[in-house]
Amino acid sequence: MSSVFLLTLGCPKNEADSDSFAGCFSAAGWEIVDNSEKADLILLNTCAFIQPAVEESLEAIAEAMEWKNCKTGRKLILAGCLPGRYRNDNSGGLEDFDLITGPGDTAALRDYLSASVSAGPVPVESIYHRYLKISEGCSNNCSFCTIPLIRGSRVDRNFENILMDAEHLTEQGALEIGIVGQDTGSWKSSRGGISHLVSRLASTYPDVWFRLYYIHPAHFPDEFPDLIEKHHNIMPYIDMPIQHVSNNVLERMGRPYTEKYLRNMFDSFDKSNTELSVRTTVIAGYPGETDADFDMLIDFLSDYDCLRTISAFPYWHEEGTEEYSRNTPADMPGPNTVQSRLMGIGDVSDRIYSVWAEKIEGKVIEVLADTAEHGHGRLDAPVVDGVCIFDRIVEPGQIINCRVSECFGSEMIVEVLR
Ligand code: SF4
Repeated sequence: MSSVFLLTLGCPKNEADSDSFAGCFSAAGWEIVDNSEKADLILLNTCAFIQPAVEESLEAIAEAMEWKNCKTGRKLILAGCLPGRYRNDNSGGLEDFDLITGPGDTAALRDYLSASVSAGPVPVESIYHRYLKISEGCSNNCSFCTIPLIRGSRVDRNFENILMDAEHLTEQGALEIGIVGQDTGSWKSSRGGISHLVSRLASTYPDVWFRLYYIHPAHFPDEFPDLIEKHHNIMPYIDMPIQHVSNNVLERMGRPYTEKYLRNMFDSFDKSNTELSVRTTVIAGYPGETDADFDMLIDFLSDYDCLRTISAFPYWHEEGTEEYSRNTPADMPGPNTVQSRLMGIGDVSDRIYSVWAEKIEGKVIEVLADTAEHGHGRLDAPVVDGVCIFDRIVEPGQIINCRVSECFGSEMIVEVLR
């Protein structure tokens, strides 16, 4: 039997694509292995969102080529955002690949494998949290973002196919399913929008946790907090990249909302009957961002109890974007300013974790055991957010009641209760 090793870089959306690629290999009779040395073929699923991600992908390519050249007959497939972004680049160097395919392009892979059967996702790794992709691409065209160039405009997957994939995932033992897409709040089908979909999934699989990722602020479904209150298995977690709050910066970013709109929404999160945990992403050092704009951002981030996790990124001047074509490096904050703004956001983030620690310490929470040593709770997404460290070894793949003994930033030490 031929064997394949899938190496995935980047975000959960890429992980969902790798699951689908793995499904194609399985359907074609390939074995999925966890190590390149056991493999006949490597599929490298790359990221190219910003320059550091491109560099990481290029390093992985160099290593994979070295692996290929060590033994005759080895094959190499390049997939994901890097070939998606540079599809028109004719500078060469691609002849070492046996196939080059864009993000999530399972049709090209199936052709390559000469397998005509349809395949659901299979686990790339043995884990209890899995991702379910509900759409591909994005139609928002934010001025700084390369995703629409790489993945195209948003195309929603249909309701039945999503339900079928959810069934595959639960059959494979998923205890938590992360619903992903570039703009999940906009998903719709003839049966209804995102709230209908999430509620249907939660009712069909009452023992599985569902977590919704990447909700664009302008497309947040108002009824979502009520759904969370109604379904215990929809996580009280809102992943909403706001990017900024100053109207000047938001307008330049092409984000169609205002500070007032965000404040109204976050006020309602704080007043919600269920305690909500919000994760957000912000960009520091956007072209034209003044000290006053940045102060507004800091004030906003400091004002809300629901905010739990802030990821801050520096602005990257990415070729092909609208902001790049404006060609105004003069109004870009300098590197020292950007660094000190990132540190300012880091300070707010630390303060927020201390406030949450006061609320959580001593409380009993449910924890999904990802391994024998650690897991994650309902307020934190696996991999990207806080980790719960057990005070003893447990059986992985179960949801356990634990008392939070102590918090260190995003980490919690928890006492396992039986
Ligand atoms: S909504 Fe997100 S993925 Fe879409 S263009 Fe804006 S930043 Fe990019």
